[in-house]
Amino acid sequence: MNTTVSGVVAVLDERYPPAWAQEWDRVGLVVGDPANPVGRVLCVVDCVPETVAEALDVGADMVVAHHPLLMRGVSSVAATTYKGRIVHQLVKHDVALFAAHTNADVANPGVSDALAARLGLVDLRPLDPPPPGSPAAGEGRGVGRIGRLPAPLTLAALTAHAARVLPKTAWGVRAAGDPDRVVTTVAVSGGAGDSFLATAAAAGVDAFLTADLRHHPASEAVAGGGPALLDAAHWATERPWLDELAAFLRDRLEVDALVSDLDTDPWTLHAQPVDPHHDPQLHKEPLP
Ligand SMILES: [Zn+2]
Repeated sequence: MNTTVSGVVAVLDERYPPAWAQEWDRVGLVVGDPANPVGRVLCVVDCVPETVAEALDVGADMVVAHHPLLMRGVSSVAATTYKGRIVHQLVKHDVALFAAHTNADVANPGVSDALAARLGLVDLRPLDPPPPGSPAAGEGRGVGRIGRLPAPLTLAALTAHAARVLPKTAWGVRAAGDPDRVVTTVAVSGGAGDSFLATAAAAGVDAFLTADLRHHPASEAVAGGGPALLDAAHWATERPWLDELAAFLRDRLEVDALVSDLDTDPWTLHAQPVDPHHDPQLHKEPLP
């Protein structure tokens, strides 16, 4: 093996400089000896027991994750804690862990480019460019992307399209707005996009697709005449980036880079409400 942990870190730091991360974020090498050889990398959205087990199964020497495992200060990584057990598993099996989070969101190409590509958006530009003079400013960088559909779709058709092209989850895709609204311009932001509702409205796009939208901010944004909203599973909005990340690692290094398709979204069940007009049982049978 000609690649080491530090070699992987070097090319990732070049593509996603740590200085581009938000101040509150914690990116970079979390676990691992920089001198260790790396033959195989597993790219994941979340470093959780399930994806660590997958990394061990496929014989990965390193996990590259989107979400930082240890975002807040900890005083213990004892195996009596959830995250401590993850750290133990990694150290015990000599698997390194690296996180590229908001520095990968803001990059060009970054997390939302892959999301926009899945939807087929063209003519991409950043939704929220960093302020001039900040470390990440420049060259089409910024969080989220704004693009154009090759042909207009109604909101209903766009919602169905998004559910079809995004990685499959129990959550699926839900939308807010007039189903017949014609959509040409779309803003997307991988992950929790609540804070960009006003930015998307100011950009004048027809629809905004993101994850983790909440009742009040979403209601007020739609009532205020903003774009139609599409809310997908957090994991599904960031999973598309892993393909691009793995291709980059294979291209730049002598490593085998694999992508985890394990759905790590916390929402694992979804039930459709029953339409009484289509369920004759509801008319015939008295409730027990
Ligand atoms: Zn995320």
